[in-house]
Amino acid sequence: MRVSPTRLLAHLDRTGVDYDLADGWADPRNDPYKGRSDFAGIVLHHTAGLNSEKWVTAQSAGYPYKPYRACHFLVQRNGEVLVVSGTGAYHAGSGGPWTFDGGPTIPRDGGNSRLYGIEIESLGTRATIGTDPRGMTVPQVVQTSMLCAALLEAIHPIPRRAHTVDRVIRHRDWTTRKIDTQQDLGWWRQAIRIARTNRRDPALARALVAQFAKQYPAGRFPY
Ligand SMILES: [Zn+2]
Repeated sequence: MRVSPTRLLAHLDRTGVDYDLADGWADPRNDPYKGRSDFAGIVLHHTAGLNSEKWVTAQSAGYPYKPYRACHFLVQRNGEVLVVSGTGAYHAGSGGPWTFDGGPTIPRDGGNSRLYGIEIESLGTRATIGTDPRGMTVPQVVQTSMLCAALLEAIHPIPRRAHTVDRVIRHRDWTTRKIDTQQDLGWWRQAIRIARTNRRDPALARALVAQFAKQYPAGRFPY
C-alpha cells in the first residue's frame, strides 16, 4: 500500500526503531515514482562496503542515478537506522517476478516501487554475526528486525495488524544476479518473527532478537 512519510514515522516511533532522517528523505523531487510506490513487502540487502551513506543518499560523485536514492533505509554498524527515503528509491533492480504466500505477485523488474529496500552496512562476504566487518553485528540484526516489524504493520491496510514475515525476502531471492544477504532467509524471518510478535513491547523484542542472534551467530537457522 501507499505509505506517506508521516505514516512511516508514526510506525517507526510506535515500534521503537532507533532512527535518524537523512537530508531530503521526504523530498518529492528525490522520488522516481512520484508518490506512487505501492509497498507489499521488504527486500534485505548488504552494502558490500562500510561507508555507504554518501552512496545510498546519492551524494557520491560516481553515483549514477541522482537524485534518486539507492534504498529506503540504511542500517549502520551500530544498528542505527538512517531513513534514506520515505518515498521512492531504486534498490531491487531487474529480477522477479515474486509471489508472496497468499499475497500479491510483484511483477518482473517491478520491485523498486513495490518493496521497501533495507541496506545493511557489511562487506557481505560472511554470514556471521559479531564484530567481523565481513558479517553483521548484533545491533544491526536487532534494528533491522524492529524496522521490518514496523514496516510489516505500516503496509497492512487494517490498523494495528501486520503482514507475516513471508513478506520479507533477500535481494538474492529477487534475482540470481545478487548474493545479498549471506544469512539464510529462514534465519532472517525467525529474527523478524520475534520482533513482530513482540512489537508492542520494543524493549522485550530487542532483547529477544539479540538473544536469537547470539544463539545462532552463523546466520543459519536449523528449522
Ligand atoms: Zn542488494
